Amino acid sequence: MDFSDIEKSKFFKNEKNLKKNSNHQTIIKTKKKNSKSINSSNFECDNTVNVDNIQINNIKSTFSKWSPSNWKKHLNNIKEMRRNYTAPVDRMGCQKCADESESGPVFRFQTLIALMLSSQTRDQITHNAMQRLKECRCTPEYIISISDEELGKLIFPVSFWKRKVQYLKKTSKIVLEKYNGDIPTNIHELSNLPGVGPKMAHICMNIAWNKISGIGVDTHVHRISNRLKWVPKPTKSPEETRLALESWLPKELWRDINYLFVGFGQEICRSQQPRCLQCLNKSICCYNNQYQF
Ligand code: SF4
Repeated sequence: MDFSDIEKSKFFKNEKNLKKNSNHQTIIKTKKKNSKSINSSNFECDNTVNVDNIQINNIKSTFSKWSPSNWKKHLNNIKEMRRNYTAPVDRMGCQKCADESESGPVFRFQTLIALMLSSQTRDQITHNAMQRLKECRCTPEYIISISDEELGKLIFPVSFWKRKVQYLKKTSKIVLEKYNGDIPTNIHELSNLPGVGPKMAHICMNIAWNKISGIGVDTHVHRISNRLKWVPKPTKSPEETRLALESWLPKELWRDINYLFVGFGQEICRSQQPRCLQCLNKSICCYNNQYQF
């Protein structure tokens, strides 16, 4: 057991109250199957993450000399807290933005565009912008065919929308000229596209190509990893956090860590005023315990 029954029932009671007061309650159909198969002509992709498929206890700690204490307990508790799929990322994250009925290349292109728009932008705003783009099909041909002003109107109010208009245009042109309308198949070439950082590239490899190239570390993963002391010493940037995590976290978990931590960071371990009292990790969290006297 990773937490007592009392704590468990308190948590779910709090969850119930939270949900009553929140209008973002949603029912997300969880699919038993969590497999993906992708190729360019015959395309099938299941981007629904099922927490029950994330195995933690049987995974052996790796080669690394260092690993954080209680990390499996932390992760099992986070899995438990994510069980109801109520976070914005569950229904509006980048894995939900691309049109699965499109061909493989278009689906992958839309996934990349969603990730580019999502930088420093809330999931709901990114999702809405993608809905508007998809009404026009959101292909690289379409993006380069419209004016900067039209594209700006479609993606506004995502953060840095003016700069992103330029990134989207340049990336669409490269995708058409160099990759025959598809996105690059490797992390190096993906990260070289204008406006695509390492976090986006790793998540894109995972969602679009079903390949695990590294951990996608955004602001949530960066913050929570430091709070739970999942890094040997405090890290200053997401990229530093990624390298620290990849040095010890078993590779089997690289795909799911972003999904688990982002939703947990949106709902419980928030940047401002984390809800530590509701958190199942409160007794084994260094960040919480440093404020208890
Ligand atoms: S106890 Fe607080 S700081 Fe620690 S993981 Fe939970 S919400 Fe985050």
